Amino acid sequence: MQRRKVTLKLYPNAAQSARLEAWTRLHCELYNAALEERIDAWHKARKSISYYDQQNVLPQIKADRPELNELGSHALQQTLRRLDLAFQLFFRRVKAGQTPGFPRFKAAKRFAGFAYPDSAGWRLMQHGGSGATLRIGTGEAAMSIRARGRHRFGVEAKPNDITLTRRNGQWFVSVTLRVPESACARRRTGDQRRGVDFGINDWATFDDGRTIDNPRWLREELPRLAALQRQRARKKGSLRFKRLGRRIARLHERIGNLRRDFVHKETTRMVRQCAILATEQLAPKTMSRSARGTVDAPGRRVRQKAGLNREILSAGFGMVHPMLAYKAEEAGTRLHLSNTRQIKPSQRCSACWELVPKTLSQRMHVCPCGHTAPRDRNSALVVLIDAFNTQHTPGTGVAARPKPLPRQRGKSKSVTRETPTTAPLGA
Ligand SMILES: [Zn+2]
Repeated sequence: MQRRKVTLKLYPNAAQSARLEAWTRLHCELYNAALEERIDAWHKARKSISYYDQQNVLPQIKADRPELNELGSHALQQTLRRLDLAFQLFFRRVKAGQTPGFPRFKAAKRFAGFAYPDSAGWRLMQHGGSGATLRIGTGEAAMSIRARGRHRFGVEAKPNDITLTRRNGQWFVSVTLRVPESACARRRTGDQRRGVDFGINDWATFDDGRTIDNPRWLREELPRLAALQRQRARKKGSLRFKRLGRRIARLHERIGNLRRDFVHKETTRMVRQCAILATEQLAPKTMSRSARGTVDAPGRRVRQKAGLNREILSAGFGMVHPMLAYKAEEAGTRLHLSNTRQIKPSQRCSACWELVPKTLSQRMHVCPCGHTAPRDRNSALVVLIDAFNTQHTPGTGVAARPKPLPRQRGKSKSVTRETPTTAPLGA
């Protein structure tokens, strides 16, 4: 059994919408009350309260506040667990020597939603096509909400738990499905072996020279976003200020949706066509680090780097690897991630394997050995060669490289994810 998550959009009517809001408010109240209890107990008696202490008084609280009954006891427990998790994360970070913020009281308006941690209190009915009905609550409070969305796992997938969330005034339900391995498998239509380099000039460049354009949603939408933000700045505190805030939030959401949709489609196509897919370990967090520097050692070209960072983040590279990883596994594609710092794909010559240093603006790879190629295509070829060099040592592959390089920390090794269904390489 595998776990998969799908999100459906909900279409509650006015009454249902009001009830969802009311339930969220109650969950939020419970969360805040439980937080206050923990803080009080600590201040007054230096006593820490556990999740179980709080869970055990829930029946009593429900007796005092009967309106909590229709929320379902497991959903209420889940909200207490959420608070407990906030504390666990807080203490873990304190222990690690960081300075985390203390768990905060939440405003009902900002409280994201609530969850049913098991099969109690709800039912999801799919009626073919992309229509579904979500039934939640019990007794008189039960309601059937229309939902839209569909998953590809068929009838064998069993819903396990759900989370209801509100985003920009719209409701969504995230469903965790238990899916048999067989239903997760993806059909592969090709046996290509491809190296791919992700970038911001072209979103992706393959070793055969094919490219995928960067759609640059953000670049197109930025002027609109800036105009809205300028308008809003002139209207501080008014009703229009709020309205513009909502429009800005919706625009951000739209851009996010477009980006996720694009990355989903392209990564699906890649694993479908390829038996071997090689790329380098990307670290968008490091790539998009600010160039600001410190007061003593100010960075250079800070604005240029900020613009570049915006491009890097807007191209959605952060989503690419996680998506490629699970899709490759489902399709039986061998995904090879070259260790960027060892291999240096953008600097290395794919013909003679020597390092040819170049700056970001040099778009051509020109090697003294006589090999010339567009920079990104050369990188894509380098990672593909690296995948071949390491094919007999899945997992590390360090030994099989032409020139063994000094070992680095475990987490930055080249990684090959192998699955049983991978076609043998010589085939
Ligand atoms: Zn060369």
